[in-house]
Amino acid sequence: MIQLCDVSEQYRQLKDEIDAAMQAVAESGMYILGPNVKALEAEIAAYCGCAHGVGVNSGTDALHLALRALRIGPGDEVITTPFTFVATTEAIGMVGAKPVFVDINPATFNIDPTLIEAAITPQTKAILPVHIYGQPCEMSEIMDIAQRHGLRVIEDCAQALGSSYQGKKVGTFGDVGCLSFFPSKNMGAFGDGGMVITDNAEIAERVDILRRHGGKVKYHHSELGLNSRLDELQAAILRVKLHHLDRWITERRRRAQSYNAAFLPLTGIQTPHECYRGALRCPTVFAGFAVQDLYASYHQYTVLVEGRAAIQQRLKEMGIQTMIYYPVPLHLQEVHENLGWQKGSLPHAEWVADHCLSLPIYPEMRADQQTTVINALAAVLTDTQPLAA
Ligand SMILES: *Cc1c(COP(=O)(O)O)cnc(C)c1O
Repeated sequence: MIQLCDVSEQYRQLKDEIDAAMQAVAESGMYILGPNVKALEAEIAAYCGCAHGVGVNSGTDALHLALRALRIGPGDEVITTPFTFVATTEAIGMVGAKPVFVDINPATFNIDPTLIEAAITPQTKAILPVHIYGQPCEMSEIMDIAQRHGLRVIEDCAQALGSSYQGKKVGTFGDVGCLSFFPSKNMGAFGDGGMVITDNAEIAERVDILRRHGGKVKYHHSELGLNSRLDELQAAILRVKLHHLDRWITERRRRAQSYNAAFLPLTGIQTPHECYRGALRCPTVFAGFAVQDLYASYHQYTVLVEGRAAIQQRLKEMGIQTMIYYPVPLHLQEVHENLGWQKGSLPHAEWVADHCLSLPIYPEMRADQQTTVINALAAVLTDTQPLAA
């Protein structure tokens, strides 16, 4: 079986270094907010090109605490994408605010900046773009809108550590960026972990206070916080991995380019945005949509296909794992029924959710494995679309 990703391969390759780092933590007796968390915070901030990093216990809490730090709460609206993992809106709900969905551009899979202004109301406090699959959002357009309307911007970079837009790392455009170290993300821990990155010292300090029970001084609590600290052990592992992150992203991108080259000549398949070539029977055509100096991390390599269920089944029979990220856009999820969205209200997100298919991609995927995936999908597409015009 060729898997979508193999989260233990990096450990096999870096075993000696990681084992030594874990043993050093075990022997140090410093298990909570010790030197490794502090060092990783500085190293990730430097990697991303911003001033502060604050390690928390998950990407979900990074979003939650970023919203809390910005004092977004009950009565406030946060504009976001329906085409994301549920953690994005979970965090908005956790602070008592209301998610307001704006449709996506089906070429980028990301929030469509041209639709944002129409969703702004007097209650809107922030825009929360998600760099889905590691594909950078159009941040200059989003930041222009935020500045014009005095809105905060929180970037969900859970899938996009290492991605950049116009030469600048994602997560550093808005007020805050939120990272996840979930094992299958671009840089995965051996458990949960996350980080808030920001240039704003006040936001960094507030997240730091909130993650440690709402108090700057031990046993003196100024507000209700929570326990959401990145583990010292995870930080030690991540510090080893950070040295390899750029190489891993290069490897992901190399595999994406091989896929692109193989799939571009085929019909019945839409390749990702960097080599976008029109909108595979999607209801709208995006004239004048330009690719803008993107560096996508390819957390996922996701194509759009017609007849997805049959294609996925055939690939499975041929020993190839694929996934649907995500089959139901958030505005149609049961959990958000109270927001009152109907099917058909965000047609691009719904269309993409019905056609997207993520293929195996990870830095250690071998060339012969990728050739197997390419040949299998090419064969299946030819079979399922013999008469495609
Ligand atoms: C994974 C993910 C999260 C949540 O991160 P966790 O570390 O799993 O809590 C948030 N948003 C997106 C888009 C994600 O993919």
